[in-house]
Amino acid sequence: MIAKVKIVMSVLVASVFGLSSCNNKNEEKINNDKNELTGIFPKGKKGPSETFTGNAYNIGLVDADSILTTVVGNVYFEPGARSNWHSHPAGQILIITDGVGYHQIEGQPVEIIKKGSIVKCPPNVRHWHGASADVGLQQLYIVPNTEKGIVNWNEAVTDEVYKRAK
Ligand code: MN
Repeated sequence: MIAKVKIVMSVLVASVFGLSSCNNKNEEKINNDKNELTGIFPKGKKGPSETFTGNAYNIGLVDADSILTTVVGNVYFEPGARSNWHSHPAGQILIITDGVGYHQIEGQPVEIIKKGSIVKCPPNVRHWHGASADVGLQQLYIVPNTEKGIVNWNEAVTDEVYKRAK
């Protein structure tokens, strides 16, 4: 029994150290004028102005394959940055890992999202998500059942709609 506990403890200790050294290696401070978020994942590539307002960076973390038809990725939104309106044919889950921002399903009030928030958006519902004006946002996105499609992009979120989010 004691031996078992010791083994469990050493595995725990090893994994904690393993995780922290891994984090240190990949850790990236994301700097901007107004705040500083700690990136868990690399920042990735800037999202195009056709689908994002402001500076948003995307990196794919998990590709879909024939068995797991799910994609996972990370987006870092600088303050004021947001997605266009869009929908996901199979829905989307967002897990906010840092910062403060907004999520809005069309026709519903804006939801304030921040580190620790989890958002479920149903299939084929128009929504947008992004950072607050003063603080950036980091989010993990999970899109299941990608055989149905990943995203359908629509028009930009106007400053008027965005300002109403405050
Ligand atoms: Mn979305």
